[in-house]
Amino acid sequence: MQRPHPSSSPSENIPFWLAGGGILVMFTLLFARKMLVFDAVTEANLAGLEPVFRLRLRLFLAVVRFSLGLDPLVTSGRRTAAQQAALHKADTRNPAPNAQAPDVHMRGVAADLNFKRNGVLVLLKGSPALAWAPVVRIADLFGLTWGGRFPGYPDNNHFDGR
Ligand SMILES: [Zn+2]
Repeated sequence: MQRPHPSSSPSENIPFWLAGGGILVMFTLLFARKMLVFDAVTEANLAGLEPVFRLRLRLFLAVVRFSLGLDPLVTSGRRTAAQQAALHKADTRNPAPNAQAPDVHMRGVAADLNFKRNGVLVLLKGSPALAWAPVVRIADLFGLTWGGRFPGYPDNNHFDGR
């Protein structure tokens, strides 16, 4: 006696699982790329940072972009002694290069950044602390130090992992 043909056999199901899984992986990678990769200037500045801090900063920036719709523009990351000396010369509130106690930028664990909304810069160094507040709340979750809290020299677009 012939048994009824099963409506679907495992061998027929495997390709569908593979196709479904493949599509899921593809969309996950596209989403991760869209959320975790930034513009060329930002990527170039991120590349010079210490790897662990870079990952922490990247995740922070992705959460800001996802939750607040703000695109980051990292304008400064790791600095050489010469770059730090030039900044100190321009404004003595910037620390002078010190080989014994290097600044967080010289150690590659700090970033200065702006944020854009729809391609327009909306958060800059000179933006008030109140405007930065939603971003700072997320930075606090990542344990980042915000320059806006520096006594005597509020540096609203500076974040570091000291
Ligand atoms: Zn800075």
